Formats: sequence, structure tokens, C-alpha cells
Amino acid sequence: MSATETAIASAEAHSAHNYHPLPVVVASAEGAWMTDVEGRRYLDLLAGYSALNFGHGNRRLIDAAKAQLERVTLTSRAFHHDRFADFCTRLAELCSMEMVLPMNTGAEAVETAVKTARKWGYRVKGVPDGMAKIIVASDNFHGRTTTIISFSTDPEARADYGPYTPGFEIVPYGDLTALQEAMTENTVAVLIEPIQGEAGVLVPPAGYLPGVRELTRERNVLFIADEIQSGLGRTGKTFACEHEGVVPDMYVLGKALGGGVVPVSAVVSSADILGVFKPGEHGSTFGGNPLACAVALEVIAMLRTGEYQERAAELGDHLHRELGLLAGGGAVEAVRGRGLWAGVDIAPALGTGREISERLMEERVLVKDTHGSTIRIAPPLVISKEDLDWGLDRLRTVLSS
Ligand SMILES: *Cc1c(COP(=O)(O)O)cnc(C)c1O
Repeated sequence: MSATETAIASAEAHSAHNYHPLPVVVASAEGAWMTDVEGRRYLDLLAGYSALNFGHGNRRLIDAAKAQLERVTLTSRAFHHDRFADFCTRLAELCSMEMVLPMNTGAEAVETAVKTARKWGYRVKGVPDGMAKIIVASDNFHGRTTTIISFSTDPEARADYGPYTPGFEIVPYGDLTALQEAMTENTVAVLIEPIQGEAGVLVPPAGYLPGVRELTRERNVLFIADEIQSGLGRTGKTFACEHEGVVPDMYVLGKALGGGVVPVSAVVSSADILGVFKPGEHGSTFGGNPLACAVALEVIAMLRTGEYQERAAELGDHLHRELGLLAGGGAVEAVRGRGLWAGVDIAPALGTGREISERLMEERVLVKDTHGSTIRIAPPLVISKEDLDWGLDRLRTVLSS
């Protein structure tokens, strides 16, 4: 057996089968490239679902992590540490907000947003106890906890995990009328992704996000934008909401905030809203730890220059122009997305998304399929134009064979 086959067989024997990875075993990575255990190099067009916006082994991020590793890595929130205040201040600044509540994974940050909205509903809005409702969108992806999958519309993500957490109302994504009709006195929040990543990089109709903003403001309802995947440079702006000139009441951040080094997530909002928490009412052992803060501070510093956003916008224009040409040829049925982020619907006759991903892997390009015949493309924002073009060439090869 090859080193690849051995590693895969062993993983299959000893790990739960909750994933079905492509048959490649990565041993090292740098920038937009990964090298497997047999020395083959692959172009990474997934970037850890946008957790690796700044590329593998980013020097600045690795140096920041190394320096912090030598000083202090964990204090718990029982004590202050000297990176915490800076992290919260700088992140709030980046978001033009006032307060930060740090967690680790995206799902924990979404849970935090849900708890914040409910508490705000009872304490500030005056919703009767136990009656708070949060409106979410169909085809959402907000994480994997029992509460979050309770409001998923994906049977795979949801089946067999009941009883489900009540208090959520699901309306079609992109439909303002349905949203308006679902709102009641007891609605405390609308929680949506400004672009739905897992659903296949679905961009809502123009005017949807401003419409959500207007409705939520009129009805004294919090607008929570889950920018875990869409945020922090991916779409060519710091936040996907910016493309529509919209400022939500709360950002939920994760993935790229940890630079692909450590899990770092956060809820960022105003003092009125995050001010609802008192000591003991919410928390996390690892949330806001020194190592996480040190890496995230470097991420924030990199985003402050705007260069990564600009790069994503420029390369994204190029990517969408090239994919648009493919869409004219019959092999590709539709292309969606913004910036360096695309959902590509392959003609089903050419194979499932999985089959296309496997063929691309043979061509040394790594992507991930979503539902049906859709693949998504989200390279690290540091990818060179030459490498991106090389990857697009491989895609053309696969689609024409
Ligand atoms: C990945 C993701 C999450 C969940 O993040 P985890 O770190 O995997 O828990 C939530 N929302 C969106 C939009 C995501 O893309």
C-alpha cells in the first residue's frame, strides 16, 4: 500500500465517518499550495472554507503565534492578560462597533449571538419570558450544535438529532415579503448570512440586505450578520454587507479571524446590545486566550491596510470573468459569488460535484463540492494570478474531458 492508502485506511478504521475527504493526505503547505505525503503538490482552491484567507504558513501570522507561544498561551478569563484589551479594541474598530465577545469556533459565536438576542429581547425589548423568536433563512449554514441544526433546512445536518430547540422561524432566503410576514412582537432577531456559502455561494437579490436592515430597524429587531465565511476580505471588502451599504447590529465572525492557525471567533456589536451580559452569564474557557488574541491581532492589522480586500476584488473580477466564459460553453450552468469566492454549477451530465472534485484532484487542484453538481472556489487571498490561472486551466481540462 502507498503512504496515502495506508493513512486513509487507518483514518477510516479509527475516526468517525462524519466526513468524506478527498483521497489526498497533506503533509505540509505554504501559501496557496499543499504537499501530500508522497511529495505531490496541489493548488488549494478551498482555503479551509475561508479560514485560510491569508494562505498557509503566513509568515506574519506564524511569527505572531511563535512569539506568543513563548510568553503565555492561556490564562482563562478568570484573569486579565495583556493581549486581550488590544484584541477587543482593534476588532471593534475594524467593525466600527463598540464591544466584542470572543469565543473559539464559529458555532459557538452563533450560539453567543442567539443568546445575546434572546437576552436583549427579554431585558431591553420587553418580550415576555420564553417567547423570543429568531428568524433565519432557508438553506442556511450556521454550524453544527444541537440548537443551530434545529433551524437548519438540510436533512443531512438535522436528521436524528431531535428533540429540536424551539424559538426559530425559517423563511425563504432573499424573500423580503416572507420576512416581513414572519415578524411579530416577539421577534428579537433576524440571523442571516449575507452570502450563503455552504448553500453554494448564493448571493441574495440586490436590495435584500438593505431591505432586511430597514425592516429590522422599523420593528426593533436585531439584524445579525453571520460573516464567518463571507467576512474578513473574501468578497473584496472587509464584510460582505458592505457591498450593499448595510451595517447590521451584530457581526458574527470566525474562520479567517484565527488566520488558519488557531480557532478564533467573536460576536461584535454595540454596547447597548452586548452590554446585556453580566459576569457568569456566558463564557468559554479558551475564548479570548492570549495565543488566539495574538494571532487575531495580526489578522486585524493585515485587514486594516485594505490590501487583501483589494486583492480579493481584483483577482475576483478576473476569476468571475474567466468562469463567466466557461458558463457560455455548456459545461457550466451557472456561476455565482463575489470577490475571490465562486459557486460553480457544473452540467450534471459531466458528473457530480464530488466526481469533478476528484478529477480536479488528479489534476492537482483541490476544491470542495457542495450540493449536487456544484463546486466552490475560494482560494487563499494571497494566491498569485499565475497560480489562479493555472488552476482555471486545470478546471477547463477537466470540464472538456
Ligand atoms: C463555518 C461556518 C460556521 C461554523 O463555524 P465552525 O467554526 O465550523 O463552528 C457558521 N456560519 C458560517 C456562515 C460558516 O461558514
